[in-house]
Amino acid sequence: MNEHTDLAVDAEVLARHDRPGPRYTSYPPANVWDEAFPEARYRQALAEAAERREPLSLYTHIPFCHGRCAYCGCNVIVNRKPGAEDRYLDYVERELALLAEFVGHRPVAQLHWGGGTPTFLTVERLERLHGMIGARFGFTEDAEQALEVDPRVTTREQARVLRALGFNRVSLGVQDFDPAVQKAIGRNQTEEQTRRLMEWLREDGFNGINIDLVYGLPKQNLEAWDRTLATIAELRPERLAVYSYAHLPSKLHNQRRIAEEELPPRETKYELFALARRRLLEAGYRAIGMDHFAAPGDELTEAMDAGRLRRNFMGYTVQPGADMLGVGASAIGDIQGVYAQNAKKLSTYYQPLDEGRFPVHCGHALSADDAMRRWVIHELMCNFGVDHAAFEARFGQPFGEAFAREDPALKELEAADFIERGPDRLAVKPLGRVFIRNVAMTFDAYLGRAVSEKAYSRTV
Ligand code: SF4
Repeated sequence: MNEHTDLAVDAEVLARHDRPGPRYTSYPPANVWDEAFPEARYRQALAEAAERREPLSLYTHIPFCHGRCAYCGCNVIVNRKPGAEDRYLDYVERELALLAEFVGHRPVAQLHWGGGTPTFLTVERLERLHGMIGARFGFTEDAEQALEVDPRVTTREQARVLRALGFNRVSLGVQDFDPAVQKAIGRNQTEEQTRRLMEWLREDGFNGINIDLVYGLPKQNLEAWDRTLATIAELRPERLAVYSYAHLPSKLHNQRRIAEEELPPRETKYELFALARRRLLEAGYRAIGMDHFAAPGDELTEAMDAGRLRRNFMGYTVQPGADMLGVGASAIGDIQGVYAQNAKKLSTYYQPLDEGRFPVHCGHALSADDAMRRWVIHELMCNFGVDHAAFEARFGQPFGEAFAREDPALKELEAADFIERGPDRLAVKPLGRVFIRNVAMTFDAYLGRAVSEKAYSRTV
């Protein structure tokens, strides 16, 4: 099986490997972090980070949306109070000032605004937020500045202003063009809205447009999905992310609006992904990591070919800064192995900032064992293999010795044709790439712990 052949998988294999599991945008995953994580530990990590002069990554969360989509898994506030955005920006400004006090004036190499809906903010507020970040940290000359835009609400003027501010990458939420699916997920977005926004973005000179699609949504079927994929191939974004819908109604109340009997069965869900993969490869895209696709010549493709692909909370990336600051409600920072997530509600995000403290809600400081496993999982997710010499050079012990306990599970993965093990390298085979989360789970020391499996999405 190579990149261009069909990924046919029989029902028995699917059933055996369709388990709840993390997406590994961090290791360990956020839902095993310590809810009593001391804010002082985060301060200490930030203070140590001041010694490093390298550029930063900075994620800003803008939680506001006009309504809550039924499938949404993000931290969202449906805002109806006038002035709420200005108050929020006031607190973001406080948090930025506090962060700058600790890490100093290190420039941002990678900026990402997510949400919620960043373009919920008016042009003036977008300018204010960007100005606040620029004033505290500044940007490197070739900084990647990206944000998520909602084609239903983004205006011509917003697109122009964002480009003028220095944004060069944009990610459009589409999910599926099929009106029946859109109705079932409570998100009506015409093809015209998406086309129009793409035209504006191209006119303004954005050179990296990403479209997000989601498979496994209610009412999805292969025929209509194929039409969505044909439209996408014609729109030609530079990148695509094709995410698996994570149905977690016990954790996300809005998902209770989704009728479970309308969700595609496991086999159809897998076929939806396989069809997307096939159509995008036929259209000339390259498959990147677990669920991304990029046009030839795109930085992501080049990074993958050079073994430089990276993964962080926003997905696959090419130029993460040495430290990642998370700003805003629910944002996550990663300061050289110390993770900290901000409080999710506005009130609990604001209160500590009023007292001059970071609004840390939970966190985790990596142990030596965590760091080793994190590196292996990262290599698997990004480069589909682990080089034994590179592992030993980094961690001072042979790979086989460090993971002797995982040997029986690795043998099972070999028998399933997911991986092959040689003296120099563990390599993920084409079938294992589809089940890369399952392969990574073998190295996850937290999986068996008392964490509710309901907290994870399924791997298929
Ligand atoms: S899916 Fe996007 S637009 Fe819909 S509620 Fe969630 S963040 Fe807001």
